[in-house]
Amino acid sequence: MAGARMRLLRGLEIVLMGGQIRRVSRDKFLVKSQKGNGWYEVVWRNRKWRCSCADYKKRKKDCKHIYAVLTFLNLPSILMRNLVPDLNSCPRCGAGQEYLVKIGFRKNRSGPVRRFKCKKCGHTFTERLAFKSMRSDPFIIVLALDLYLKGLSTRMVAHHLSTMYGCNVSHMTVYRWFRKYVKLISAYIKKLKPKVGKRWHADETKINVNGEPAYIWNILDRKTRFLLASYITRGRGAKEALKVLESAVKRAGGKPCDLITDGLRSYEKAAKAVGVRRHIKNVKFSGK
Ligand SMILES: [Zn+2]
Ligand SMILES: [Zn+2]
Repeated sequence: MAGARMRLLRGLEIVLMGGQIRRVSRDKFLVKSQKGNGWYEVVWRNRKWRCSCADYKKRKKDCKHIYAVLTFLNLPSILMRNLVPDLNSCPRCGAGQEYLVKIGFRKNRSGPVRRFKCKKCGHTFTERLAFKSMRSDPFIIVLALDLYLKGLSTRMVAHHLSTMYGCNVSHMTVYRWFRKYVKLISAYIKKLKPKVGKRWHADETKINVNGEPAYIWNILDRKTRFLLASYITRGRGAKEALKVLESAVKRAGGKPCDLITDGLRSYEKAAKAVGVRRHIKNVKFSGK
């Protein structure tokens, strides 16, 4: 059991690193090897996910790559469940949660899916069916978050979803998805044990919140790419830089020797205040 828990956490970690999972099709994903041996194939066959890694071949049980795919697939529906608490209603007669009886599970690509029976009309359905509408499609949410993080405003994202996919969501919904996503990710990060070296990398990304600039701050370990702190702020002065750096030090249980940044002046003061030995500026993050 401890082994499965460990693999689950390693799977979460892979998702949180970003850029480690590629969706080839509904039935096939590529997950990057954490030891640098290229990509593993995670394939859905005979109602089961299978992986091409040595761990899976040996044990024939879910490996960290499979857990990564499961987390990746489930993240948006976890989001939706928190955003729309009354989403669980009978798709045929609309009866609310108080009429629904749980009648076991069915296994599909995203893991076990709960089955319900409606006491009012007798209809049986899986939880998935309740998520069928376009505006709660996991890929729409992932797409919206991706566009937003690339710098589009919430209004532009909403407009894009409407014209390209016929999916009508308000720009406020896009923003709520994003806030929820940040909260959810932070909750996961708190559960993980940090793997941290002496070199950290800090960056900040400018985003647009209701027409006003805001910043996402990230501090991660240079080698393991473990995300140590993530914040959204209005300003990007020394005060904000210090807040995110202090939070990273607390999370890691110690300070780094080197802090590598894009050269933003705010880090200068923050690094000094925390007692970081060296502040390296203008070094391109190699991703290694
Ligand atoms: Zn594997
Ligand atoms: Zn019903």
